Amino acid sequence: MQLKCIGKIMSLASENHQSNRNNCQEKAFTLVELLVVIGIIALLISILLPVLGSANRAAKRTKCLSNIRNMQIAQILYCNDNRGYLIQAGFGHGGSHMHDSIAWFNTLNQYYQNKLVARCPADDSPHWGPFPEGIPIPNAPTDQRRQTSYGINPFLDRDMVPWGGPYVKISQIRQTSKTIQFLEMAKTGEFAGADHPHVDQWIGPGARVIAARQCETNMHGGPRLSLDARANYGFLDGHAETLRLRDVLGEGVLPDKHNLFDPATAR
Ligand SMILES: [Zn+2]
Ligand SMILES: [Zn+2]
Repeated sequence: MQLKCIGKIMSLASENHQSNRNNCQEKAFTLVELLVVIGIIALLISILLPVLGSANRAAKRTKCLSNIRNMQIAQILYCNDNRGYLIQAGFGHGGSHMHDSIAWFNTLNQYYQNKLVARCPADDSPHWGPFPEGIPIPNAPTDQRRQTSYGINPFLDRDMVPWGGPYVKISQIRQTSKTIQFLEMAKTGEFAGADHPHVDQWIGPGARVIAARQCETNMHGGPRLSLDARANYGFLDGHAETLRLRDVLGEGVLPDKHNLFDPATAR
């Protein structure tokens, strides 16, 4: 009787063990399934992330185009109100302070119900203020900070025009839809606090490198320091476009070749 009991207990224990093993096997199978699901999710994320990244970049570029378009429209309103006179650059650089009361951005903003946006969403410059935030701009007063992502084509400023002109009124511009007015300034370096580049220095084979020091020529894609660098540009007729540096510089040789800065050659 005792032996029979022991036999039964052992058989129950063995059944129990068997059932535990089956449970374990079921759990192991579930784990494999889980791993497969995790793998699929990881794969989907790796596929989706670049897509989301490029959608994010496209959204920033579009927002920036709208910022520039609004600035161009404000400039047209300014022109209409001021007998056709063009707005002038006003922010200094390389030692001189910005003068907020005469700065073009603040003037244009008054013509646009203070709705202009000075910062491109892709602009992560370390020099943004207001002081004491941000880090000082090289060769500028220690309390000077970046106030705008955007600058003015110096050809359209009567005091800074490198040659030709001076272009004082919009009626002097032959092709307003081909003449750049606003562009994107370099995020770092001496021009980070300026509101105009020195386009007259963009000469010869090194033009793309000099341009990239003054303007963020690849703010919206393309390889830095290359003629395929892409940024946004605003035109006097009120439209804005994303263009490669080679599109705005022509053959990269100023002053006598086709480019979109010099109103005499812009076409
Ligand atoms: Zn931009
Ligand atoms: Zn300057």
